[in-house]
Parts: sequence; C-alpha cells; structure tokens
Amino acid sequence: MLTPREALEKIFEHTRPLDAEDVSLAQAVDRTLAVDLVARIDLPPFDNSAMDGFAVVAEDVAHASKVNPVLLHVHEKVRAGLMPTTAIKSGQAIMIMTGAPLPQGTTAVVMKEATDYNGNGDVKVLFPADAGDNIRSKGEDVRQGSALLKAGARIRPYELALLAAQGFWNVRVISRPIVGVLATGDELVDPAQDLIHGKIHNSNGPALLSALKHWNLEPTDYGIAKDDPADLEPKLKQALAECDVLLVSGGVSVGDFDYTKTILEKLGVKEVFWKVAIKPGKPLFFGVTSDNTCVFGLPGNPISALVCLEEFVRPALEKLQGFVPKHPSYHLIGKALNEYPLPADRRQYLFCQANSGKNGFELTILRPQGSAMMGMATRANALALPYEDARQIKSGDEVPFRWLK
Ligand code: AMP
Ligand code: MG
Repeated sequence: MLTPREALEKIFEHTRPLDAEDVSLAQAVDRTLAVDLVARIDLPPFDNSAMDGFAVVAEDVAHASKVNPVLLHVHEKVRAGLMPTTAIKSGQAIMIMTGAPLPQGTTAVVMKEATDYNGNGDVKVLFPADAGDNIRSKGEDVRQGSALLKAGARIRPYELALLAAQGFWNVRVISRPIVGVLATGDELVDPAQDLIHGKIHNSNGPALLSALKHWNLEPTDYGIAKDDPADLEPKLKQALAECDVLLVSGGVSVGDFDYTKTILEKLGVKEVFWKVAIKPGKPLFFGVTSDNTCVFGLPGNPISALVCLEEFVRPALEKLQGFVPKHPSYHLIGKALNEYPLPADRRQYLFCQANSGKNGFELTILRPQGSAMMGMATRANALALPYEDARQIKSGDEVPFRWLK
C-alpha cells in the first residue's frame, strides 16, 4: 500500500494544468494567471496626498510646534478626483483630501490632526513636517512597463485589486476542471425520498457536490447508479466523456458487488493506484484515461469519502488549475488531552475538538471514530494526523492538526 505522500506524488504525476481561457475580472478570483503581465500604468498614476490635511512647502513648517505654530494662508480646497487649479508658494497652504492630486509646489502634506483650522483664513500648523511627508509619489508602488504578475500567480483579492487598478478588465487564466460526481449502491435513495428497510440516504452525492461548489467549481451531478453493470457502465461512460475529473463513490472495495473498478478499467481507465495506507480511506482508487480524465474511486463510507476528497482530490483539482500547494496542511500543533491507539500499518486521521489552552492548542480526540460516523464528524472542528512513527497517542503528546472547514 502507498503512503499518503506517495499517493499524492502519483496523483501530481498524472495531473497537468488545464488550458487557458479569458475571463472577466469579476470571475478571476481564485484562478491562476496563465500569462506574464506587464504594468500598463504607474501606480499611483499621479502624485497625491496620503492624508486629509494641508499641502504645504515643507521648509515653512520644519519647526512648527504647539507653542510656536506656523500660520499659512489657505486659498484652495482640492478633493479626490479633481485637479487643483492653483499652485502653492512659501507661506501658503491648500486644503487637500486623501487621494487628491498634489498642487504644484507641494513638498509635504500636514495631516488635519496636526493643525488648527476653523474653515477659512489661515491654518495653524502645530507639528513639524519633513519633505515627502504624507505624499504618495507617482510610480512608487508599480512602474509602468515593469513585471506586474507572473504566470502561475494565484489571483487573490490582492491581485484582483492590482489588476483592477491597472485597468485589466479581462484576464487569461487556467481553465477550471469539469468535475462529475456519481454515487453507487443499491442501498442508496435520494434524501428527498422515504427510507424503506435496508436502504440509506445518499450522503456522498450531496456532500461531495457541496464541497466542490465551495471550491468555486460547478460540478455535474450524475446521481445514483445501481450495483449492476447494466446501469453503472453507461453512467460511467457518459461521465467519463464529459468530465476532466470524475468522482465515483462506493464500489471500490472488495465486496462481491463492487463493480466500479472493473467497469472503469473496461472503459479505458488505467489504474494508477488502488489502496492507500490510511484510516479512514484505505480503498481509494485513482486512475486516468488516455485523454487525461482523472478518476477517483472514493470509498463509500461518507467520512472516508470526505477525508479522501480533502486529502487527495482537492490537491489534484488545485494542480489542474495551476496551483502548487505552498505549505503543508498539518502545520498546527496541539497537545492531546486523551489517548488513542493507532493502527500499525496505516496513518490514521483523527477527528478532534480543538481548543486554545493556556500553552497552545489542546485536542480532545473524539471516541469512537468511524468511517461511517457522520454524527461524530459534526462534533469535530479539527482533523489531526499523528506523526508517521507514532504507534499510539498518549495524553500530552504533540499532534499536528488542521481545522475542518
Ligand atoms: P462500498 O464502498 O460501496 O462497499 O460502501 C461502503 C459503505 O458505504 C456501505 O455501508 C455503503 O452503504 C456506504 N455508502 C456507499 N455509498 C454511500 C453514499 N453515497 N452515501 C452514504 N453511504 C454510502
Ligand atoms: Mg456499495
């Protein structure tokens, strides 16, 4: 069995960023830039004030103080968005708002709070200022013609703010994968239907679809397939033809009616791996078609399916969108408050309640844990992954964890 790290490496080997497309700026957030961009304009585009206050000649107020205020004659008020109509000379000031263009002759801005001004006549400057104070100079942040953003940059709201400031209303980004979700199992009925004995509601379909939507994807719901090749095969065939990534839940274990793997193979999906040394999630299957459709066969148990989704599917979806994860998931450390035995042959993910204690985070490991225990998972706010060599968790042990969102 592969370790989770080996499984991830295999997944990354078989996932390449998708092609590029142009999207409007409004749709660009959380996408990956597909091209290098050069700055179209200087930022700021013109010298302007960083404060509400008074544009002055710095030497005039170099020694201003509360005891010896400097009196300056105010002859204009400039607001953001309008150009000043006059310049200033020694002995003069222009009232100025944040973001307004600097009047000619300005060498400093004195903030309003450092002055005494009754609205007309002279302003009293009560504190000294140096040349350059509270001035944002043209091009100090970004120079026209310089490298603005590189291909591969993830567009966060910060990048979006910059692109907007530069007047990019359309950007070339990596496409989003088309992701399909198919649940399998004769026992499954839609949550809207009543249960008859022996049946259960389909939890995986809604849970997987909602997680994908949460990650800004628009997944296709292929519904429920029976544990019957006559129903499963055409559904898988259609989904494979339509998707970049297909998530099939159930039927990947070793039961007599677990047909998913054999039918996928019949339809041209080449197995990359089957089974990972984790708990929950051991039966995870990953395969690819000749035209690069990635298929995840997720375990049927809902908690296993969701752990596999977050640990393996999400990184694949990110890689397809051109993201390279920059930090490990389990970077928080908590002290266990209770003990828990660990399996010898697999890494176990532990659902925990994490709280911040006096000396850092404290983890209460929920007991019992189970791959079908959805009630248990709702009482957890954190997922811990004990160190590789840990054989059991004892009270007081340090355990890496991440928040469950
Ligand atoms: P399987 O992997 O098909 O053997 O399923 C393992 C367990 O997960 C069985 O108890 C199934 O009933 C359950 N299961 C499979 N699919 C779902 C689903 N979509 N929602 C809830 N439970 C499921
Ligand atoms: Mg099944």
